[in-house]
Amino acid sequence: MLVVMQSHATEEQIRAVCERIEALGLRAHPIPGAARTAVGITGNSGEIETGTLESMPGVIECIPVSKPYKLVSRDVKEENTIVRVPTPSGEVTFGGTAVAIVGGPCAVESREQAFTIAERVRDAGARLFRGGAYKPRTSPYSFQGLCEQGLQILAEVRAKFGLGIVTEAIDNESLELVEKYADVIQIGARNMQNFSLLKRAGHARKPVLLKRGMSATLDEFLMAAEYVMSEGNYQVILCERGVRTFTDHTRNTLDLSVVPAVQRRSHLPIVVDPSHGTGRRNKVLPLSRAAVAVGADGILVEVHHDPAHALSDGPQSILPEEFEQLIGEARSIAAVLGRTLN
Ligand code: PEP
Ligand code: MN
Repeated sequence: MLVVMQSHATEEQIRAVCERIEALGLRAHPIPGAARTAVGITGNSGEIETGTLESMPGVIECIPVSKPYKLVSRDVKEENTIVRVPTPSGEVTFGGTAVAIVGGPCAVESREQAFTIAERVRDAGARLFRGGAYKPRTSPYSFQGLCEQGLQILAEVRAKFGLGIVTEAIDNESLELVEKYADVIQIGARNMQNFSLLKRAGHARKPVLLKRGMSATLDEFLMAAEYVMSEGNYQVILCERGVRTFTDHTRNTLDLSVVPAVQRRSHLPIVVDPSHGTGRRNKVLPLSRAAVAVGADGILVEVHHDPAHALSDGPQSILPEEFEQLIGEARSIAAVLGRTLN
């Protein structure tokens, strides 16, 4: 259910509507728009008695939201959500006219490794650095990440190179720490339906980058984002990272058609990860170009200066010089679409 307020509704009237909703044992989500504020209602199992709400001062009407996802839906908010990430070198936005670029290794392996790559990522012009301190690996014998020590290295990267940090939380325990160190909390493909983690991320005060599960439908993907938003964190960035298919020329099939599909259904920004999407270094640049062309709000790529010795995802990590090339090409393609890079 959505309570649409008049364009001249006062703060007080909006607050009164929220209080009435909460008094019914439901949750109110004020959603400011360009023209007017709407108040989303969640927590109801059946129909809501709208009579009392509809007659409140400042209310235009109550509209039922037919989609299973509510807060994520464009029905609830027509204009794009812009997720703002403050970094030491200025704000990076997702969902506006500028395309955001995130580069860095799959995993933080050592201070030296992270510093070497961060310097190149910064010099290439990016302002967000990725790198996992907690790695969800298929094998328990594979490198699992440096954990809190990795987060401390990321904090040093942030301070030394002025880069904002995107890093993954794999469970509620790691999220507590990641929230302290990161500028953006990544939730990985394997955890897209870890509902307790999604709810915990909904209480975080940092933006969440939510990756699509490797076999998730679009509805499932959007419902996962709904979990985060329903707990009160509206700063969600969706990320397409490829889905499992029968192909054997790539690790996954990068579903670029999901970008316009998401944009039709949701106001949330969507970025593309061509590294996990293809699993092959030689396909990362072409698919990055395609991602910008299809209208993605950002690109997240793995970069390593010595991929042959990377502790994870070396075969899909591009070299720093390729990352520079990627940024140049992305900028040119974005310009054709009236966009810039940020
Ligand atoms: C990653 O970003 O390194 C990662 C593990 O990604 P995904 O969850 O998409 O597999
Ligand atoms: Mn990886």
